[in-house]
Amino acid sequence: MAPRPVLLTIDDDPEVLRAVERDLRRKYGQEYRVLRADSAKSAMALLEELKRRGDPVALLLADQRMPETNGVDFLERAMPLAPGAKRVLLTAYADTDAAIQAINKVRIHYYLMKPWDPPEQNLYPYLTDLLEDWRSTYRPPFDGIRIIGNRWSPRAHRIRDFLGRNTIPFQWLDLDTSGEARDLLAMLAQPSAEDKSASATRHEGHDARTLTPPVVLFPDGSYVADPELPELASHIGLRTQAERPFYDLLVVGGGPAGLAAAVYGASEGLKTLLVEREAPGGQAGTSSNIENYLGFPTGLTGADLARRAVAQARKFGAELLTPQEVRGIRTQGTYRVLTLGDGSEVSSRVILVATGVEYRKLGVPGDDALTGRGVYYGASLTEALTCRGEDIYVVGGGNSAGQAAVYFAQFARSVSIIVRGDGLAESMSQYLIDQLNAVPNIRVLSRTRVAAVEGDGHLERVTLVCDAETRTVPAASLFVFIGAVPRTDWLGDLVQRDEFGFILTGPDLPRAEGRPAAWPLARDPYLLETNVPGVFSAGDVRHQSVKRVASAVGEGAIAVQFTHRYLAET
Ligand SMILES: Cc1cc2nc3c(=O)[nH]c(=O)nc-3n(C[C@H](O)[C@H](O)[C@H](O)COP(=O)(O)OP(=O)(O)OC[C@H]3O[C@@H](n4cnc5c(N)ncnc54)[C@H](O)[C@@H]3O)c2cc1C
Repeated sequence: MAPRPVLLTIDDDPEVLRAVERDLRRKYGQEYRVLRADSAKSAMALLEELKRRGDPVALLLADQRMPETNGVDFLERAMPLAPGAKRVLLTAYADTDAAIQAINKVRIHYYLMKPWDPPEQNLYPYLTDLLEDWRSTYRPPFDGIRIIGNRWSPRAHRIRDFLGRNTIPFQWLDLDTSGEARDLLAMLAQPSAEDKSASATRHEGHDARTLTPPVVLFPDGSYVADPELPELASHIGLRTQAERPFYDLLVVGGGPAGLAAAVYGASEGLKTLLVEREAPGGQAGTSSNIENYLGFPTGLTGADLARRAVAQARKFGAELLTPQEVRGIRTQGTYRVLTLGDGSEVSSRVILVATGVEYRKLGVPGDDALTGRGVYYGASLTEALTCRGEDIYVVGGGNSAGQAAVYFAQFARSVSIIVRGDGLAESMSQYLIDQLNAVPNIRVLSRTRVAAVEGDGHLERVTLVCDAETRTVPAASLFVFIGAVPRTDWLGDLVQRDEFGFILTGPDLPRAEGRPAAWPLARDPYLLETNVPGVFSAGDVRHQSVKRVASAVGEGAIAVQFTHRYLAET
């Protein structure tokens, strides 16, 4: 619920202050929050806090005669902190001249005479009129997390992407284009009266004077500057540490395969822990529209699928750690042990590796320096709004590139799809090709490859090679979808993989004399079981798997059936 707008009254005389507050509450207390301050200094501190929290201020009602400053000066100083608020001066008869001059000087909206009794006659009519005026132009503020940063900062991109993929709504305030963003950052960087005393601890120990963007501002007014993802995760209530040392089933990876395993495992009574490095949903979570998943004829976004799956897994009691990376695996007798990114360990009898794949890099000059600064791997749906009105490029001819092009075309002026082949027919589903053809601002550059990316601090130019012709075109955003590779190095020598790093399971395991090499059990490995009994693999990371959401989900569910069998036999 959006916070109620604030009416702030300021007076050094405690009796007058209480009386104004009482009368304001009586008439406006339902609709507005009435706050009071006994000095200009404390009022400024309060306004700073309200600004940090994004709470709207509708009215400032200040007494003209105060010891350390007068009401006019206060209202003038308060303007940048509450620019939209109506400013009203409370004066004695003797100060009427000063009040009239102030109307011109600091654009005071009204002055009221003390005493104002009866308020029905001398206070409410004027204030109601001003507040109605304020309401007519008031737009409720964004009531959630705000991020202040530079569009081209990879750190800011990472935070936006992380929040977006965890379906946490946020408002992006760009320092390059938004005056509000710059004002807010400047205010946070100023040591306020309060900061000097108490807030050093309140703001996580950051020295407000050396505030490095991106800054993440929470609805309660607290903030963190340039946070690491685990720090941010703890602020938004995501767990990164396991509750117990031992589980029935440990799932590595929170894509469709891992989430399905968590849902089926937990719903069938297994104590299940899922560890996800970035955000639940995996590759599917970055899809703008999955149209071929059973039961969703009009499609659904990957974020929606992930959100539903997470809710379902939690409902059945699965524990999710995110963002948390698995860095190592070992066996200890019948126990299977995982080492996490923070050095802690969790163990179980069964582990499911469902770590999927990651995008292959372009590998052209400039790529490393500009990744996250205009060159993006994957759909990065959170970047769509910043591409509004621009000419953007999508590299790749697969379904993921096609989906992204259709999505970005809603925001960008034009979308150019760069493909090496003669067209899209070999690599993209027909339904997506039909969609692309129907969007006028999408074009396909066939027999073309990216040779270099350049720019000073962010992407500015892309060099394209088509047949024998090379040309350099201006570009601000390039989204790359050129195939994917598994990242399975953390499995060390324990789990066998093929030459590309995909995990071998069941019938695919190399055999000697009819049996998998060094396999210790009398039975053969199950369909999704690796060369280590009790360590299973599902989804895109598995050798020769079908790279589809439905098959990943199916394999995750099947892996749970094998888990039951394995637990029963051990
Ligand atoms: C943009 C896009 C659009 C797509 N559209 C469709 C579509 O319309 N229909 C369709 O059927 N398929 C689609 N796909 C393919 C589909 O998304 C994948 O086949 C599916 O997501 C594979 O699921 P998975 O669980 O095996 O792996 P992934 O989805 O890759 O998930 C693996 C997860 O493991 C995590 N992880 C990796 N290593 C670690 C580690 N060491 N520790 C902890 N966590 C780790 C990763 O962060 C990731 O979240 C699309 C793919 C993309 C990229």
